[in-house]
Amino acid sequence: MGPVPIDFTLTPELDALRLRIRTFVDEVIKPTEAEIGDPDTLDRGDYLNKLLGMRKQAFDAGIWLPHMPKEWGGMGLGHVELAMVQAEAAKAYYGPFVFNCQAPDEGNMHTLLKWGTDEQKENYLRPLCEGTAMSCFAMTEPEVAGSDPTLIQTTAVPDGDEWVINGHKWFISNARRAKFAILVCRTEDNPDLPQAANSAFIVDIPSEGWNRVREVETMHGGSGHSEIVITDLRVPDSNMLGGRGEGHLLGQSRLGPARLAHCMRWIAQAETALDMMVDRSLNRYAHGSMLAEKQGIQWMIADSTMELYQAKLMVLHAAFRIDNGLDFKSEVSMAKHFVANMLGRVIDRSIQVHGALGYSTDTPLAHMYQHARWARFADGADEVHQMRIAQRTIAAYRDTGSTRTGTGDLPI
Ligand SMILES: Cc1cc2nc3c(=O)[nH]c(=O)nc-3n(C[C@H](O)[C@H](O)[C@H](O)COP(=O)(O)OP(=O)(O)OC[C@H]3O[C@@H](n4cnc5c(N)ncnc54)[C@H](O)[C@@H]3O)c2cc1C
Repeated sequence: MGPVPIDFTLTPELDALRLRIRTFVDEVIKPTEAEIGDPDTLDRGDYLNKLLGMRKQAFDAGIWLPHMPKEWGGMGLGHVELAMVQAEAAKAYYGPFVFNCQAPDEGNMHTLLKWGTDEQKENYLRPLCEGTAMSCFAMTEPEVAGSDPTLIQTTAVPDGDEWVINGHKWFISNARRAKFAILVCRTEDNPDLPQAANSAFIVDIPSEGWNRVREVETMHGGSGHSEIVITDLRVPDSNMLGGRGEGHLLGQSRLGPARLAHCMRWIAQAETALDMMVDRSLNRYAHGSMLAEKQGIQWMIADSTMELYQAKLMVLHAAFRIDNGLDFKSEVSMAKHFVANMLGRVIDRSIQVHGALGYSTDTPLAHMYQHARWARFADGADEVHQMRIAQRTIAAYRDTGSTRTGTGDLPI
């Protein structure tokens, strides 16, 4: 197939949906978020009631599970349509949770939908879709580089119709709230390919042998990323997710759309930071004029505007390629790398324009900045994406005599 032009046209119904989500975020989520403030200072029951109350309103309003097909109670949207919903939802911190499209459940739902047996879908996917359970994805280990899953040391050994699992995981987001984990382990000693050593299992939580030993404190606080020691954990054969040796493949197919969903949420955050930057510059006076009239500030606004524009185009284009069954690996890698870095730069500039206020916790910027830092290495470190992008561009040149297919395969 020749280069495919891009068409991001939304139907009038979808455009109306986008605006409905924006109104819901502005009128329901943001005011409740302001009431919640710092959740640690709220009574736990009050906090949960507020969160679940917002979820119920979203469900009743039909804004629920945008990423899932209709037969699973979702909105049945394609990836371009999803980009627009996620970018609206993430304008508020709790937005993705309220619409039940938050990480890591969102990626796990895609994974169970694609790889699960009918029984696994009924037992594990159904409660996620209904919002009655949460889940986690356990791959990274402290002892080996998470960037290279062929190094995974947690082992699963067959014993009758069960597997016995031993190992160590950390940074497992949501593990403390999860009803189950998708756990990636080494099952093959001498695979044909190093990538075929791992398999994935569904583990009920709690289970004997699954020990959550601590919450890892991060630069944005004790945020729900757990360290897990696994000792003689027994999992039935029927809980293997996908086939033997398909753990790496499953992880990769999970991460493609999940990375793009992160980008969609990061775009919302960057846009919030840019809106705040412009607002502040229009209202702050120094040295004879408003900040907005100063060239140094305009450069920051202009750079952020151009980068956000690039980010939106990259994400929409990668989503368009997924929707149209085209290879999207390089486009998702490029989008993930670019959007993660753009996010940090735009928030940083916004903090600069806010001065001391930006450094304080009186605005959301400080919190956003702390969160943004992980984007550059989680779900694929910058350098690993750069390595893969370069490999594909070199291959494109070798195969076709041109790098053009490596740069989005666009008609220019
Ligand atoms: C907030 C947060 C949430 C997370 N949630 C989860 C989760 O739910 N489940 C889960 O399994 N994991 C999770 N992780 C872990 C995350 O996926 C890993 O941090 C990531 O895969 C990188 O692995 P690592 O930390 O072991 O870094 P390493 O693999 O040790 O890499 C460290 C650095 O080395 C460099 N590097 C690596 N490879 C190359 C290369 N080929 N060329 C050049 N440089 C390279 C990069 O700069 C990289 O940042 C989370 C992490 C964070 C911070």
